[in-house]
Amino acid sequence: MNLDNLLRKNIKTLQPYSSARDEYTGEAMVFLDANENPFNYPYNRYPDPLQRELKEKIARLKGVTPEQIFLGNGSDEPIDLLIRAFCEPGEDALAIIDPTYGMYQVAAGINNVNVKKISLTESFELDARELLKNTDEKTKLVFLCSPNNPTGNCLDKNAVLEVVQNFPGIVVLDEAYIDFAPGKSLLPQLKEFPNLVILQTFSKAWGMAGIRLGMAFASPEIISVFNKIKYPYNLNILTQQKALELIENKKQTEKWIKLLIAEREKMTKLLQDFPFVEHIYPSDANFILVKMHDARGVYEYLKEKGVIVRDRSKVHLCAESLRITIGTSEENGQLLLALKELI
Ligand SMILES: *Cc1c(COP(=O)(O)O)cnc(C)c1O
Repeated sequence: MNLDNLLRKNIKTLQPYSSARDEYTGEAMVFLDANENPFNYPYNRYPDPLQRELKEKIARLKGVTPEQIFLGNGSDEPIDLLIRAFCEPGEDALAIIDPTYGMYQVAAGINNVNVKKISLTESFELDARELLKNTDEKTKLVFLCSPNNPTGNCLDKNAVLEVVQNFPGIVVLDEAYIDFAPGKSLLPQLKEFPNLVILQTFSKAWGMAGIRLGMAFASPEIISVFNKIKYPYNLNILTQQKALELIENKKQTEKWIKLLIAEREKMTKLLQDFPFVEHIYPSDANFILVKMHDARGVYEYLKEKGVIVRDRSKVHLCAESLRITIGTSEENGQLLLALKELI
C-alpha cells in the first residue's frame, strides 16, 4: 500500500504547525519559549503534544509500540481526522455497514464526503464480498464496527479480514466495546495489515466517557499523518493525568468488565421470560438489543417510570427494538421491576 496515493493532495504537501514543545522536547531548568505564565504549575504549562508518557503506558497495556498509537479527544477525533486526511470533499466516499454507529455518517456529512451503506445480513453479519463490490476507486475508507453498535455482535473475523486484505484503501475497525469481548480484538494482528486502523476508547469499559480519550492504533506511517493534522495540543493535561491514574488502577476496570459481562448474561436470560419480548440478540458489548412487541410503547412507558433506554426501532434491520445499556445490578433490577409491572 502506498499511503501517498491515498492521501488528499493538500495533506500530502501540508507543512504542519511546529509548537515550542515540538522544537524543544528535553528537560530544562528554565522554560521561556512558549509565552506561558510562570505561575499556577502544572496547569500553566502546555501539555505534551505527543503525550509520550501516556503512550508508553498504553503501549505496554496493549502490546504495541508508542509509534503505533494516536490519542484523541474521544474516538470522534480520529474518525474526523481519517476523513479529512483521505477523502477529498465533494469527490471521495467512504463505506459503512448498516446499521452501525451514527458518527461515521455525520463526520462524513460535515466533510462533504459521500457515504455508501452496505447492509448487514438479517442476523447482523458482514457480507464482505457485497461490501467490496460496492466500493470503487473513489472509496478511500471503510468503517467497520465490532462489536457493532447498536446490534451488539462481533463481526465474523474472517469476513473482516477479507475486507482488510482486499480493500485497496484504509479499513477502520472500531473496537469501542472490545473489552467486553475478550480475545476477539484484531489488535494482536495489527502489524500484518498496513491499511488497518483500530479504534478503541476509554469511554466504555474504562468508565471515562467524561475525560474524552480515544485511541487509534495503526502503522507508524498512518499515525504520523494523524500527528501532522491534529490540533497541536489536542489532549489537555487533566485528561492525560486522569488516564495515567486509571491505568495504574486497571484491576478496577477488569472488575467492572467481569461484573458487566455477568450482568449482561443475567439480563439476557431474565428478559427472555417477558411475554412481549420477541428476541434478544446475542451481545459481545455492554448493551443488548431487544426486539419486542410495541417497542415504542415500552420505551414511553419506561420513560414515565424514569428508566431511559434507546429506541432503535427506526434503524435499518432493527424494527421494534430497544437498545438497553447494562447498568449496575440495582439499575438493571429497576428496569426489570418496571417491566414486570407492565405485564
Ligand atoms: C461509544 C462509542 C464510541 C466512543 O466514542 P468516544 O468519542 O471515544 O466517546 C466509539 N465508537 C462506537 C461504535 C461507540 O458506540
